[in-house]
Amino acid sequence: MSAKSGPMPPWLAGTLVRLAQRHGDGELHHAILLSGRPGVGKQWLAETLARSLLCAGAAPEPCGACPACRLTEAGTHPDLRLLHADEREKGEEGGSIVVNDIRELLSFMQLSPQMGGARVAVIIPAERMNRSAANSLLKFLEEPPSGVQLILTTGNPRRLPPTVRSRCAIVTLPPPSRELALEWLGRRVDADEREVDLALALSAGMPMAAERLLSSGGTGLFRTALKHLAAAASGSDPVVLAREWENAPQRLGRWVMLIVTDILRMRAGGLPATVEPERVAALSNSAGDDAVLHLVLERLAEHLRALEQPLNGRLAAEAILLDAVSAWKKRS
Ligand SMILES: [Zn+2]
Repeated sequence: MSAKSGPMPPWLAGTLVRLAQRHGDGELHHAILLSGRPGVGKQWLAETLARSLLCAGAAPEPCGACPACRLTEAGTHPDLRLLHADEREKGEEGGSIVVNDIRELLSFMQLSPQMGGARVAVIIPAERMNRSAANSLLKFLEEPPSGVQLILTTGNPRRLPPTVRSRCAIVTLPPPSRELALEWLGRRVDADEREVDLALALSAGMPMAAERLLSSGGTGLFRTALKHLAAAASGSDPVVLAREWENAPQRLGRWVMLIVTDILRMRAGGLPATVEPERVAALSNSAGDDAVLHLVLERLAEHLRALEQPLNGRLAAEAILLDAVSAWKKRS
């Protein structure tokens, strides 16, 4: 199991205690769906809860010392199954969970527990199940065998079939305050304050997403996006620039939307941009009027919606930059 290191993040601890208590009282729904923004800590909570339900200790957090904890940490506990879409196929968009994965999970659920406790299955993230996988999981949701706990995570419950969603107990994870997120990141990453601030702003305040961004050089990549946008605005060919984004069109689309939104926000309220104020201000000076920018935002949102389906990354990145650059067409 890809165990998360370090103590339980404080904004998740209350939910863990509540769910563990409900399980202790025999009142936890057999299928819980942990819902929350990308990077709030759904996977962390799902894995910790799974380990906690199998732990022989009494605390809500896994003790880390009992035989069950040693097995879950090593990823070899016989009564735990983890289906993680992103760890099965590489690439930013991750892999799919297919019907054979769910069939294997269902046969695991029919077995007797080997260590005498619960059996726990975790699916991360549940919206990666294709239609037949989701249909297959319905069998479990409708007639759950006793002693089996299913934990699902999702960044967007609406992307799950209603038949699945309505048969789960949805638990929404609250995001931390900005202060709490900064304090937690400060203890975990080796980066200066400006980088941490930028990463948190790019991650809509979600600390795990900010941590991932910092450890993958994402803040540097964001500055490349700013540079490319400025270059495209002053005449460079978007099709050439887009080549660097063919593996990350979603990221490009989200960031360009953030920059355009920042420009509109600055113009409306005279506020500094949430990210890289000087560079965003420079882009604002050469961009078209607000109506043009709103139109660009609509088109970018369409591209991001289209990217929820698998697509050619380079074509998507080209389309994003070609549409974005129309914001600067009239004046440049
Ligand atoms: Zn334990």
